[in-house]
Amino acid sequence: MKLDTNLLNMEERKKGIIHSVISGAFISITNKCNAACRHCIVKDDVISFTDADYNDVLDWLEQFKECGVKAVHFVGGEPFVLRKQLCDYVNKSEELGIYAGVVTNGLWAKTVEEGITILKSMPGLKGLVISSDKYHLEFINERIVKNAIEAGLATGKFVSINVTYVESDEVKEIYQIYKEYQNKISIQPVKAMPFEGEDSKKIKRFKPFQTPKRVETYCGIGNFF
Ligand code: SF4
Repeated sequence: MKLDTNLLNMEERKKGIIHSVISGAFISITNKCNAACRHCIVKDDVISFTDADYNDVLDWLEQFKECGVKAVHFVGGEPFVLRKQLCDYVNKSEELGIYAGVVTNGLWAKTVEEGITILKSMPGLKGLVISSDKYHLEFINERIVKNAIEAGLATGKFVSINVTYVESDEVKEIYQIYKEYQNKISIQPVKAMPFEGEDSKKIKRFKPFQTPKRVETYCGIGNFF
């Protein structure tokens, strides 16, 4: 699949508009996951579990470089399920001078030591965004997430926790759980997304998202943004 690099020739780019829009990108490399959070699209029967084509991803990274994209995050599903490919994508990003991050559930860090070994095999990985919230914690114990945080910090990654929430109290609980890392990591609450799970009726939607459509295969968690 070829990106529309014509956009780069538009007048807007001169003004920096397009450039700022594409300064960061996400690539969903797989919809497979080793968890099954109840708010997630991976539980959905209609989802395709075909992984992104290996050569396509490498080609997209080349095109990102050409377009001036400065950062890429690999998402899923769970990207570490495809660890070998993820490693290659991260290495390629580093070779191209693109910041590489990954959005993960942290399940690969059964122990801190195991986590460190895995992260050391990806020296080009700069950012570790770990999803941990009410929904993920039903599957992935906070101890595992703490292992992943510690492995990330020990290997010099920028570590943050992504918190999907419906009620703001849920975020407070997450701050409490990870308070020992408060000056070392970033905690990013992600405004509740209009998913179709049992809590969906509680969600106050932003006006532009009153009649949202699911963006197919954009994100393993079925985010509408
Ligand atoms: S929300 Fe994330 S960890 Fe949970 S099932 Fe979906 S992709 Fe996996």
